[in-house]
Amino acid sequence: MPPKSNRAIERVFRRALPAWYRRAARDLPWRRTRDPYAIVVSEFMLQQTQVARVLEYWPRFLKRYPTIERLARAKRAAVREAWDGLGYYRRAANLHRLARVVVREYDGRVPDDPEELEKLPGVGHYTAGAVACFAYERSAATVDTNVGRVLGRVFGVSGEKKLIALHRALQPRRGTSAWTFNQAVMELGALVCRARKPRCEICPVSGACRWYAASRSA
Ligand code: SF4
Repeated sequence: MPPKSNRAIERVFRRALPAWYRRAARDLPWRRTRDPYAIVVSEFMLQQTQVARVLEYWPRFLKRYPTIERLARAKRAAVREAWDGLGYYRRAANLHRLARVVVREYDGRVPDDPEELEKLPGVGHYTAGAVACFAYERSAATVDTNVGRVLGRVFGVSGEKKLIALHRALQPRRGTSAWTFNQAVMELGALVCRARKPRCEICPVSGACRWYAASRSA
């Protein structure tokens, strides 16, 4: 039986998840850098593309445009060509516009504040939080589909606002801990708590999960 109170669930969730992440997470190259520009590129690519494909395109794109200044100076057709094969070309156009805005208005430095980030082309609430956290190790909401599903199942919560509030309450305030926590929830959603056929039998938080408890008693 899972712990009854939300507080007990939170404790298990906070403790078990980072430990599992350190043991089981994939070694993805954008997790090895804190370069804000490189993180922005990875987040734009990952918006609608599978990780395996981004692994191929991300280094290639950064080789062609190693800095935000180089991307800002590029011709639109060249950026479109560098994106060729990834699809959803609006992302390439937005990324290009973002680079120009950052160079022109932020002196080439990607902002670290989620509210400021959200003003940039192509940056929504999730991407703003992801860049703030994964590049600058700021405590920020990173609730995408995977994270929403994990939190929804474990805590029995639904609705975007409630999920974001829950995520904010759960994540550590300290930078590196917030970084690890946010990556860990996302990784759990990608590898274990999948939309179809979640792998509850190997899940590090199954002992605290309401969804799992309900499915077992059913
Ligand atoms: S126990 Fe199952 S449903 Fe709950 S978080 Fe883990 S994988 Fe998801």
